[in-house]
Amino acid sequence: MIDSNNIQSYEFKTEVNELLRLMIHSLYSHKEVFLRELISNASDAIDRARYLALTESSIYEQDTEWKIKIIVDNEKNTITISDNGIGMTKDEIIEALGTIAHSGTKEFIKKLVASDSKQKADLIGQFGVGFYSVFMVADKVTVLSRKAGIPKDKAVKWESIGEGNFTIENISKEKRGTDVILHLKSDERVYLQEWEIKKIVKQYSDFIEHPIILDIEREKPSEIDKSKTVKLREEEKINSQKAVWIKDKSEITKEEYEEFYKHISHNFNPPLQTIHYKAEGTQEFTALLFIPETAPFNIFFSDYKIGPMLYIKRVQIMKNCELLIPTWLRFIKGVVDSSDLPLNVSREMLQNNKQVEVIKKSITKKVVDTLAEMKKNDPENYQIFYKEFGRILKEGIHFDFSRQEQIGELLLFKSLKSTNYIDLDSYIELMKPGQEDIYYITSNSIEEALNSPYVEAFKEKDYDVLVFTDEIDDIIFNNYQYKGKKLKAVMKGDIDLEKTSSNKDKEQKFNKLIDLMKDTLKDHVKDVRFSGRLKDSPCCLVYDEIALDSRVERLMKAMGQHVPENKKILEINSSHPLYESMNNLFNKDGSKEQLKEYISMLYDHALILDGSKPQNPNALLKGLSELMIHKINNQLS
Ligand code: ADP
Repeated sequence: MIDSNNIQSYEFKTEVNELLRLMIHSLYSHKEVFLRELISNASDAIDRARYLALTESSIYEQDTEWKIKIIVDNEKNTITISDNGIGMTKDEIIEALGTIAHSGTKEFIKKLVASDSKQKADLIGQFGVGFYSVFMVADKVTVLSRKAGIPKDKAVKWESIGEGNFTIENISKEKRGTDVILHLKSDERVYLQEWEIKKIVKQYSDFIEHPIILDIEREKPSEIDKSKTVKLREEEKINSQKAVWIKDKSEITKEEYEEFYKHISHNFNPPLQTIHYKAEGTQEFTALLFIPETAPFNIFFSDYKIGPMLYIKRVQIMKNCELLIPTWLRFIKGVVDSSDLPLNVSREMLQNNKQVEVIKKSITKKVVDTLAEMKKNDPENYQIFYKEFGRILKEGIHFDFSRQEQIGELLLFKSLKSTNYIDLDSYIELMKPGQEDIYYITSNSIEEALNSPYVEAFKEKDYDVLVFTDEIDDIIFNNYQYKGKKLKAVMKGDIDLEKTSSNKDKEQKFNKLIDLMKDTLKDHVKDVRFSGRLKDSPCCLVYDEIALDSRVERLMKAMGQHVPENKKILEINSSHPLYESMNNLFNKDGSKEQLKEYISMLYDHALILDGSKPQNPNALLKGLSELMIHKINNQLS
């Protein structure tokens, strides 16, 4: 930090710097979004000030008319977006415009580098790099801001050319709020044109509920000499301020819905589905909700803001109200406008509020019904939705007990037999005679599942097995029942598809060998038993019915959670010739030490198949190479 004449210089955070570089040097389309982003910030700042002013009237400072101004200066080549909203303190401005980077910035930059220019613009919006988009059109940006309620000489000036650093200066500012001054690049002066500004505002910000005033110099015929023109500054409101959701459905065009969605989601693609309805009765409210086509960039990050905007009688109260929506529908964007909640409501008051609960229930039902309808009538779009958000939707199975079946109906799966999506109803329809349960395997991929020892017997019986590839699947479907049918993991519990005693004699004869295996592995496994699920592989590890699988265990460990030790069961395939040989060795000279070594290798074998590491890779590989030598020597002799 350099101190000279009250100006301090700060470095942008590394990620911000990288982002700016990309923004300046590689984004060429949709540059006009800078205006949308600045207007949106200004509008948010006003909403926040207005909300505070409900309880703290000193916020007004005699300036009670909320408005956003766009001021064009042709001489200086600047366009200024000015608001009388909440403003920023020095600390806030340093943090907001330079030192904090959203979580996921690194991943975002990577994706940005790899995408084409249209996708780039989309990504920028989804990520919400809003303010920094100014550097697409300006080579210098000055921000003057004074926080509402603080003295006039405690305002702050922020300035940057968008590379490396920004400066901060203490200044005086008469009016509360923020002015963002863009010094336009010489080839971006089109944004000084009245028609261009009007066009952008009409397209992206028409329904902003605060007036957007254009303050511009126009040439007019002179009053004195009509043959001459004079330059006059004039002001004109250029947005219609019409809240889309208040209008009657029949009066809204598809384009209007889409523009509104693009505005609130910062997206360029239209939504996949629009839900607009008015609820009357115990709670009167209007909801305009959207199911996006693509997931916002940060949806899996902890700072992702959940929930639609909350308006009360057309006044914005919260930009995101997470209480209005269950987390498993957190991809929903939109607005809820209530007629019944009190205007001065706080977040705390909304918690455990019955009215809010009613709204949430209604929205949840509406969205679930809409998805069901989409799945039935528009399967193509539903698959687009499912690929993007299925992973989130199914969390509902775990969190919303009352809707378990309804959500189950919405789920799609891949399976051993079907690489296209199928649902649970069609799985049930195709179940074989005698098959009672729905089987699934958790796996990293379909290919891996197809080759897994756990499904050998299922394949032989021609049973289909659902393949779950999301890490959370096992947590979600552990214990799940769908329409009276249990979902069972093929790697858990005692599965015996044969249900016959044909192997019993053979197994009797291995009893002593099994005892030796139990004894050798007693520190590692809970039990050693014969398997009803193996056909070709010699052995595998299985879990108790209620235990979580090792993918989940690894996930929990990676998240730093304590995972209780959970010993598995070693299942052996009595029809595998290996046991016959081992048993012969056992009976011949009872060479226990040698057998113990083989048993240990078998256990390692099972660990690898389970996706875990062998206990002692070195010993395993050494054993293997010895066997190879042995085999080769046999071949040679
Ligand atoms: P976002 O709006 O998505 O948070 P931005 O980069 O557009 O991202 O803005 C970063 C932050 O800067 C905002 O969250 C807000 O705190 C602050 N900010 C930007 N513009 C204004 C403004 N006009 N008035 C007050 N604060 C603002």
